[in-house]
Amino acid sequence: MALEGGALATDTRTPLSPERIAELAAWDLRYHWHGFTQMATYEPLIIHRAEGCWLETIDGRRLLDGCSSLWCNVHGHNHPQINAAVVEQLSRVAHVTTLGMAADVTVELARRLSQIAPVSDAHVFFASDGACSVEAALKICVQYWQQRSPAQPQKRRFLTLGEAYHGDTLGSVSVGGIPLFHQRFGGMLFECFRCPCPDTYRLPEGVTSEAALEYYLGAAERILSEHAEEIAAVVMEPLVQGAAGMIMHPPGFLAGMRRLATKYDVLLVLDEVAVGFGRTGTMFACEQESVEPDVLCLGKGLSGGYLPIAATLASHAVFEGFAGSITAGRQFYHGHTFGGNPLAAAAALASLDLFGSNQLLAHVNRQAERLAASLERLAELPEVGSIRQRGLMVGIELVQDKETRQPFPREELRAAAWCRRALERGVWLRPLGDVVVLMPPLAISPAELDLLIASLP
Ligand SMILES: *Cc1c(COP(=O)(O)O)cnc(C)c1O
Repeated sequence: MALEGGALATDTRTPLSPERIAELAAWDLRYHWHGFTQMATYEPLIIHRAEGCWLETIDGRRLLDGCSSLWCNVHGHNHPQINAAVVEQLSRVAHVTTLGMAADVTVELARRLSQIAPVSDAHVFFASDGACSVEAALKICVQYWQQRSPAQPQKRRFLTLGEAYHGDTLGSVSVGGIPLFHQRFGGMLFECFRCPCPDTYRLPEGVTSEAALEYYLGAAERILSEHAEEIAAVVMEPLVQGAAGMIMHPPGFLAGMRRLATKYDVLLVLDEVAVGFGRTGTMFACEQESVEPDVLCLGKGLSGGYLPIAATLASHAVFEGFAGSITAGRQFYHGHTFGGNPLAAAAALASLDLFGSNQLLAHVNRQAERLAASLERLAELPEVGSIRQRGLMVGIELVQDKETRQPFPREELRAAAWCRRALERGVWLRPLGDVVVLMPPLAISPAELDLLIASLP
């Protein structure tokens, strides 16, 4: 468990020698190509062990994990109950396929997810990463319309949001809407219908906060009323667009999109890879607007952030269209070697148990209040344009001009400078453009939360 005040439990293992530390750093630069990282300027940061919310580097520095090891850690690292579940599973079987068979533990997890997720009589398809859960969702939707009666095979396009992020595979980048990721791969991506990003901080010219909801839903409805014939599904992140920089949707936007999807007979796919599993204060973000998607994508926190596993949940109505004789060829033409891996499934079940036994959602909501109160002082700083928070998901956007919301020149890397300072103070954060992101493990203690805030200017 997380230790108050920040010390790791005494480690009796031998510390690494200076030679070993230097060697690992050199090898990290020479052999290891890091994602979303400029290797020419990368400075090795290598973790040797972790416990609770604390990471320990190979040279013995202790760092508070302020971004949950990229938004996935839930109960802290090295948790005895999750460790025990994985070890117990390891003593039986590490991996079997889900193609035509299953591990008992994966069956158990499918049932648990179906019981807790706000999807009607959900059937659970497993993958290993969030991007792949989105890929599966897209293909489920397209194949569904071909096999439903009456068939509507022309429904094979998607309506998506500006600045959306759904992962880095080509299909998930196609439904994504972050120009930086799109430009490089133009021509390899499929075209989507795209609504304006339902941003509540940077509103379109002439649109007031009060009118924003109507404006954004109106834009979506114009596309749907004209093109629903060819649209398989609306694909969106509910409530918060994480990778876009913690962009908060106007309240009611999700419920409005659900109504529109139903009205125009398109499926609703919700990507809760980032916001699922308690991050926003409810188990699933869509519960906050009482919305049930037709298809739900889960990843990151599913295994408590321990092991790679992701899931695509489809309602029974969607699933039904895939039934038939083997030769009818209606089965879902998609599958991953390591989907539903038993070790990851065991970690996921243990993680779900901990939500109950630790009353984690109540803890998240208490901590979110504490965090909101302590962030107030930052709002006064001249460079803080906006502090956006849902549960334990925070974006602090830095701007050159508070009034006009004019961004800093890109080369200034302001948010990165905040994160570098935090690192010097023992807290690991990772920015998104000009946005400083705070995403601590959900189990973070009040004292640790205070340390996190104290690392900021
Ligand atoms: C992280 C993320 C993904 C991609 O998940 P990976 O496991 O990195 O492939 C997809 N959607 C959202 C909303 C995410 O935040």
